[in-house]
Amino acid sequence: MYHHVKKLMYNVNVGEPDVRFGKMLLEQFGGANGELAAAMQYTIQGWSCDDPERRDLLMDIGTEEISHLEVVGALIRMHFKPMKKALAAAEEDPLVAVTGGGGLNLFNSMGNPWTADYLKIAGELDVDLRNNIAAEARAKITYERLMHLTDDRGTKDALQFLMTREITHMKAFSAALDSLGKDPFSIGKLPPTPGLVDEYYNDSTGEGEVGKDGVGKWIEKNGLHVVDSPFSFDGGSSGLTVNGKSGKSGHAKESGKLKTA
Ligand code: MN
Ligand code: MN
Repeated sequence: MYHHVKKLMYNVNVGEPDVRFGKMLLEQFGGANGELAAAMQYTIQGWSCDDPERRDLLMDIGTEEISHLEVVGALIRMHFKPMKKALAAAEEDPLVAVTGGGGLNLFNSMGNPWTADYLKIAGELDVDLRNNIAAEARAKITYERLMHLTDDRGTKDALQFLMTREITHMKAFSAALDSLGKDPFSIGKLPPTPGLVDEYYNDSTGEGEVGKDGVGKWIEKNGLHVVDSPFSFDGGSSGLTVNGKSGKSGHAKESGKLKTA
């Protein structure tokens, strides 16, 4: 059950309306990393979640995101005010000005309609928590970029609040993921193929205008070891089989022709 309180989660105070900036703010309203996408992603995950504690977390944060959507919407409406009367302002976004009367609609900054395709819902709690940590990181960086593009004090204050809350959420989702106590590389139930799982293919080699070959020492963390390009061997199988005939594994270790670092 939802209940609306006639308040904004953060006080919105715009000094100088800026239609062009309002249009960019649409990214956080009806855009891929925006508040509606976050609200829907966490809420729909929450409705499907059988784990009561994490379900509650998803519902808490999903609901807060709707409050963020309301704050972003209030900001956009204030920045769009000049669109209602001035031709030059309306020309900044005829879709909003003429079709939408200068009001809110679920578009991104380029006028593309919001789509459920933005949502990452895997139906596996740890995978979804990772989806959400990534979503929060994207929301954070989007707010940061928006903040660099306005000098309006009140707008900046509201964006600072919203940006901060995304880090709070990132912390909460990370805590929930940690609390599951899962090996971070154990996803689902089927184990990965031993050996193959630890091969890191050095697939971009040589030296040229766009850089030179080099694999950081850090790559060997987590049990990985470097294998030279698996596609440099001569001969071997095409890897194609019909009814199980022919087809050796193209897997580097089994091919035996590759140098292992
Ligand atoms: Mn948010
Ligand atoms: Mn968030």
